[in-house]
Amino acid sequence: MKSREFNPFEMAQSQFDKVAELLNLDEASKQLLRNPIREYHFSIPIKMDDGSVQVFRGFRVQHNDSRGPCKGGIRFHPQETIDTVRALSMWMTWKCAVVNIPLGGGKGGVICDPHNLSMHEQEQICRGYVRQMAKNVGPFNDVPAPDVMTNAQHMLWMLDEFEAIHGSKNPGFITGKPVGMGGSLGRTEATGYGVIFTTREALKELGIRPEDTSASVQGFGNVAQYAIELYNKLGGKVICVSSWDQKDQCSYSFKKDSGINLQELLKITDKFGGIDKAKAREIGYEVLDGEAWIEQDVDILLPCALENQVRADNAVKMSNKVKVIAEGANGPTTPEADKIIHERGIFLIPDFLANAGGVTCSYFEQVQCNMNYYWEKDEVLGKLDVKMTSAYLAVSELAKKKNLYMRDAAYVISISRVAQACKDRGWV
Ligand code: NAD
Repeated sequence: MKSREFNPFEMAQSQFDKVAELLNLDEASKQLLRNPIREYHFSIPIKMDDGSVQVFRGFRVQHNDSRGPCKGGIRFHPQETIDTVRALSMWMTWKCAVVNIPLGGGKGGVICDPHNLSMHEQEQICRGYVRQMAKNVGPFNDVPAPDVMTNAQHMLWMLDEFEAIHGSKNPGFITGKPVGMGGSLGRTEATGYGVIFTTREALKELGIRPEDTSASVQGFGNVAQYAIELYNKLGGKVICVSSWDQKDQCSYSFKKDSGINLQELLKITDKFGGIDKAKAREIGYEVLDGEAWIEQDVDILLPCALENQVRADNAVKMSNKVKVIAEGANGPTTPEADKIIHERGIFLIPDFLANAGGVTCSYFEQVQCNMNYYWEKDEVLGKLDVKMTSAYLAVSELAKKKNLYMRDAAYVISISRVAQACKDRGWV
């Protein structure tokens, strides 16, 4: 019998249900928060380069906007489903709430594969998406951003269409734009740096000096690279990173006991974050199995690649030395592995707190756009540090006070903030 397929929305709902019980939420609040408040499903007809017409399906889900305009990316993916978009929009609500920024949760998607579309066809999809949604998105109701397989160029086309429809300049409609066209300095660094701001605070609380620690990282893309950069600046030593090899269709771990050299590795990394294994060997790296990153004798593990990577089967292989796990990726840990981490007393910084630097900086981008006044990079990163640190401290304080696992404490804070906003507005 075929096993039932994994449904991210059911997982998001069951995570919510667990905390709703813990918080003793009333029935109306539960019903309101375990479902999106609004959903849009639409068709985008496109004249293809060969003269034919193809119709693409698009979605925008607004999970909750009680604390401010919805915020969340638009994904282009051939396997996009409405349930994935629903789950991601719900997680965005909790992420914005845990860092206490005045935004709600949203997410969008189009079922398409950019690998098989020309730039002109992609531009038409972006413009078509905005034409369908123009009345229901905007700086003060729902602010999209780039996500899987969409980038700054896609955001600029969407902005241009939105401004053409509304007949005015509205740079705060969308974030992740190119710097110089309304984008914020520091956005590239924001997620990785945020992971390390929270890790730094955790080490401080545990009485460990960063310069006395070592780390192993899964992934070598945007989040991992900037996390490594800042961790190195604090004096930490990364001894192992892993990345996906597109040619071999598997991952490898790259190890150097004396510490990897970020700049050296960047020179042999492609734009998708894949490290060239032959060149890595030439410059003295041991090339190991893709799972080896999790078995290293290090103090800190940073899963920064993708979901479902720390599972019961490999979590048991973690070294006894590991003291902290900071989840840079979204959903890297399965519930079974979470149990193992919890039981072993490893300090976990959950994904929607650890990687909230990205959305926090997107919020800064929106603020700058709305003011039409742009900050220097140091100012952006300084403000990011303040936001991430205070969010971390609020979660860890609650975890200590109520003897909660960090993931549960973060959920308790987010869900109660959103539930309270719905109550204060008189919705429930
Ligand atoms: P990216 O595409 O830049 O990098 C992904 C990296 O993971 C690449 O180095 C790739 O080789 C590696 N990888 C893929 N599969 C792997 C595997 N099986 N084993 C080892 N390495 C593997 O992506 P990113 O922007 O760095 O995002 C990474 C994660 O962080 C994702 O879960 C993403 O949703 C999450 N995230 C990103 C941001 C952001 O601002 N970029 C914000 C919040 C959350």
